[in-house]
Amino acid sequence: MHLMKKFLLTPCLAAVALSLSFGALAQKRDDAIFAAAQAAQPAVIDTLHKLVLIESGSANIAGIARVADFAQARLDALGAKTERIKTSNSERVMVKGVLKGQGRLKAMLIAHMDTVYADGILATQPYKLDGNRLYGPGIADDKGGIAVILHSLAVLQSQGWNDFATLTVLFNPDEEIGSGGSGALIQSLAAEHDVVLSYEPTAAKSMAKVEGVLLAAAGTAMATMEVKGKASHAGAAPDEGRNALIELSHQMLATEGIAKGIAGAQLNWTYAQAGSVRNQIPESAVATADVRLLKPDAAEKLQAALVAKTQESRRVPDTHVHVKLEVGRPPYVAGERGMALAQRARAIYAELDGRPLFFHPVTGGGTDAGFASGSGKAAVLESLGLAGWGFHARDEYIEIDSIVPRLYLTARLLQDLGKQP
Ligand SMILES: [Zn+2]
Repeated sequence: MHLMKKFLLTPCLAAVALSLSFGALAQKRDDAIFAAAQAAQPAVIDTLHKLVLIESGSANIAGIARVADFAQARLDALGAKTERIKTSNSERVMVKGVLKGQGRLKAMLIAHMDTVYADGILATQPYKLDGNRLYGPGIADDKGGIAVILHSLAVLQSQGWNDFATLTVLFNPDEEIGSGGSGALIQSLAAEHDVVLSYEPTAAKSMAKVEGVLLAAAGTAMATMEVKGKASHAGAAPDEGRNALIELSHQMLATEGIAKGIAGAQLNWTYAQAGSVRNQIPESAVATADVRLLKPDAAEKLQAALVAKTQESRRVPDTHVHVKLEVGRPPYVAGERGMALAQRARAIYAELDGRPLFFHPVTGGGTDAGFASGSGKAAVLESLGLAGWGFHARDEYIEIDSIVPRLYLTARLLQDLGKQP
């Protein structure tokens, strides 16, 4: 909470403050890494193009497998020991690559291969270049993240860098549907590393003015409310029935603001189902809520509050109301060590002619950084992917002029971390 207040500047203000404070303090740019990052830009664009042309919606298992083929071949070419690991709940595969060096740092880099888009999306949203923007479904979220990881490692290799013990790369195939089959592995692998860097995109400069990193993301959960009533003839004997739909409506209204009293919780009823024919009083009804959690204890408190509230009153006597909360991805909170990584990232960005780096305090969208920080062992930083916009929407794009700074950032960050005693 302290961090959120401190950094809830508008990006514009942050930019001004930063250029004042870092202009003089910034370390000298590493020209060799910068030149290598610049030289890599056409190859990054080529990688993005190839990845976008493979449609890989979360339901498209074959498409995801093709992205996995591509990513695994690239990791093989970097000299990584690679393997494919089946997710625990589906035929989707993860790709894992491990590089061994001569130093002490143990770092893991993560990004996801799946997108939210349905098959055939390229027909209406093709890959295209327009000025500083490259458009394509999933280009920012999260194919840009895969590209930044692969090419940053290539940049470091071109410099002969081997100041690390283990570099693990993990690409998962189910982030957009909650990482149910990969989250546990992300969490257990994170516990074997000092640092986890996560490559979701960051907001485009056209929207946020300044590129950034992310300090916190909500955990996700799903609340379900089920009402059991009694069926009866809606025309001839309505009073004999117990209308589950009416009771469900009553309970949804009673609980619509319930999360407002619980720190770190958010709840919104999003879909519901009741009855099946016009002339019958419905005997059952069920509603589902999207739940976001920013504190570890928020789930338990919300569940208790939901149960208490729904037992408090009945609009329709003799109906039964049952609520449950299923917790998905845990919340990501950078904490002190993640914050230290963010500060280091900001100092590295400042090496690029005082380029500012914004700290986004929190997002309502979930991220796999939640599983990584759930390990409690690794320092975790999120949103090191490319700057872009239109995620999960139409006309998704990345900003081409974020490619070089982002390669430079990852390469310098790993180089710096490798020097740590
Ligand atoms: Zn994503």
